[in-house]
Amino acid sequence: MNSTSFRTRFAPSPTGLLHLGNVRTALFNFLLARSRGGVFLLRIEDTDAMRGHERYEHALQEDLRWLGLAWDEGPQAGGTHGPYLQSQRGHVYAQYFALLLERGFAYRCFCTEHELEIERRSQLAAGRPPRYSGRCRLLTKDQVQERLAAGSSATLRFHVGTSAVVSFDDRARGRQLFRTEDIGDFVIRRSDGTPSFFFSNAIDDAIMGVTLVVRGEDHLTNTPRQILILQALNLPLPEYAHIALVVGADGSPLSKRTGSRSVQELREGGFLPLAINNYLARLGHTYDDNSFRPLDGLANTFSVDRLHRAPAHYDETQLLHWQKEAVLHAAEDELWQWMCAAAMPDGGRIEHLVPADLTGQFIQTVRENVMTPLDAYVWAGNLFAGSAYDDEAADVIDRAGKPFFRFALDCLRDDASDFKSFSGTLEVVTGTRGRSLFMPLRAALTGAVYDAKSRKVWPHGPALERLWSLLGPARIKRRLEEAARFAGTG
Ligand code: GLU
Repeated sequence: MNSTSFRTRFAPSPTGLLHLGNVRTALFNFLLARSRGGVFLLRIEDTDAMRGHERYEHALQEDLRWLGLAWDEGPQAGGTHGPYLQSQRGHVYAQYFALLLERGFAYRCFCTEHELEIERRSQLAAGRPPRYSGRCRLLTKDQVQERLAAGSSATLRFHVGTSAVVSFDDRARGRQLFRTEDIGDFVIRRSDGTPSFFFSNAIDDAIMGVTLVVRGEDHLTNTPRQILILQALNLPLPEYAHIALVVGADGSPLSKRTGSRSVQELREGGFLPLAINNYLARLGHTYDDNSFRPLDGLANTFSVDRLHRAPAHYDETQLLHWQKEAVLHAAEDELWQWMCAAAMPDGGRIEHLVPADLTGQFIQTVRENVMTPLDAYVWAGNLFAGSAYDDEAADVIDRAGKPFFRFALDCLRDDASDFKSFSGTLEVVTGTRGRSLFMPLRAALTGAVYDAKSRKVWPHGPALERLWSLLGPARIKRRLEEAARFAGTG
């Protein structure tokens, strides 16, 4: 198989926002295509005319773009297998419906919902699994014509047949066998003319040249039906890999309650795309090492052979770990954009706080202490907007006392160039060392102090040396003067 004939796809039904579970499917398909130099395509499965999809269709494309999961073929990108919206592919499906009817693989079913319900109930009452009896298959051509002429609406059912076995080698779960007698004739065209999922999804995979379908294991039992359709039409079968679903810590399906969030919520919460990608690429898939990787690094060794069978447990602490890594690895420009783009709760803007010539140094100083743009904004406020002390800092400053800060101002006058020599002198002059020396300084310079027991967003402040050179002598002097005034009131 040459590389561009390796084709994967993401085929979302735009019925809601993308969340971690379904975006992981998109990522796996994207990474597999990239790992093989193949094609990743996006197909929108919007066949159900009842639901209004446009908003979600738009949102999911935006989410995928934001995550960097660019599709090679699909809406906007184009390609030779379009249109890529199923709602625009009715003419394609019509040809295959006709072929199936012609070849005797499909028949019209006039059973009403009510009749089907009665049939289901009596089967259940007799201890049999509910399955369509195949009654309408026995109608003669004339009977069918009569009913159509009388205006009865009909679905189209696929004739499954009995006593055969459908088998396939699932790339994630191994060999699968399904007996056709357990399947029952199923609907491939609804009475309103729209195709059922089984049908349009299978047809499109085949004629769009998809070679590997990676999707959630909730679709596993659909696969034999889809294989039967493709075989009846002599269309090529893709390979399938059904991946275990993502579950919450308690093993239940991922939901709002178990911590699932939409991509949009994660973006608004300040997560970086590579944090999400690094996390999800390891949720049900293993790499040899746990180093942070850019997208092409994630793709290089991504392999269908490394997919897990067991359910993948969502773990918020892991996501936060990758967020921290993503912040540490991001380019300065990117981080600054990220900080500036976020809406802050008080409507303020970080670019109004950090002097333009200090943005690079600011980022270097606080990067290790920041998980979200809001953290960065709080730092910027603490460092550049003036001295609002938090309770702990106020207490530390108060206890250090006015003389401490007066001495600090004296030492600053003598030598402001470097924090080490400044603090060395202050130590000698005041006779204080270690925490008693550094905590009041940190409190004065940043308005906040590190306390291992506190539940602050940043557990460790940036090194004082770095803060020193970022703030510069004039700001340091001003902050020490403010602390001296404040300590006097305690
Ligand atoms: N539209 C289906 C879904 O969103 C696609 C399933 C598949 O990947 O085949 O569940």
